[in-house]
Amino acid sequence: MLDVTGLRKTYRGRERDVEAVRDLTFRIAEGELACLVGPSGCGKTTLLKCVAGLLEPTSGTVRLGGRAVTGPPPDMAVVFQEYGRSLFPWLTVRGNVELPLKEKRLPRDRRRALVAEALEAVGLAGAGDRHPWELSGGMQQRVAIARAIAYEPRVLLMDEPFAAVDAQTRADLEDLIRALWRRFSMTVLFVTHDIDEAVYLGQRVLVLSSSPTVVHDDIAIDLPGERDQLTTRADPRFTELRARIYADIRHAKRGPAPGAATAGDGTARA
Ligand code: ADP
Ligand code: MG
Repeated sequence: MLDVTGLRKTYRGRERDVEAVRDLTFRIAEGELACLVGPSGCGKTTLLKCVAGLLEPTSGTVRLGGRAVTGPPPDMAVVFQEYGRSLFPWLTVRGNVELPLKEKRLPRDRRRALVAEALEAVGLAGAGDRHPWELSGGMQQRVAIARAIAYEPRVLLMDEPFAAVDAQTRADLEDLIRALWRRFSMTVLFVTHDIDEAVYLGQRVLVLSSSPTVVHDDIAIDLPGERDQLTTRADPRFTELRARIYADIRHAKRGPAPGAATAGDGTARA
């Protein structure tokens, strides 16, 4: 479904160049919910922008359903971290969710039905006439999610979408994403720096190293499909998986030559 091959991105600067992504290769299957976890500044946003066709890679390719991505693909939606800035303050909630559907040139009745369904799915059925600035941060982020799913994307990209909301809202939004993924069977690529969040959400977690950025590990999350904030996070397997990823990231930070101390770390934590 989504194929990233040898992706490299260097930002050209006046003073110096910044290599944001060194060499990323991975493949996400249709209908998969994959999380990508890596430390701040390792190039996660850069990668997503390349996948979304908003940024041109320095080298390497991104293919979606077999076709090279050279601009924003029509069947993809993106939810960014800065939801406040991604909503139009002069439009109502309904207007914000409907806007991309107008650009898609859907007939009015169809647009109305999709907007209503999406707002209902994110628990904002009664908020259509309000404006984004009348809503809490968590509600605004739900509007951004509603806008993405109303669009009926085959692929949904999310870039640390819950980083700015409180812990309870965040837990609710995580459950919302899993519920929507199961209901609408989209392919989801969810980027986060939060290891626990990645394990809780994903069927699979790709671990990125800090620069030079490569895919350091690719872990199948063999937790039951029915997840619950309390029982899943208390599952010994959950603890094992997060410990493995913590060790991985530490290892990645130490560079390509693993020493005895690194191996010891992994065992002590597992
Ligand atoms: P992440 O999302 O993982 O925190 P980013 O993709 O935002 O990482 O950034 C990766 C690296 O690229 C960082 O060193 C960052 O400073 C640099 N970078 C990001 N955007 C730009 C840009 N537009 N111009 C120059 N450097 C950038
Ligand atoms: Mg980022």
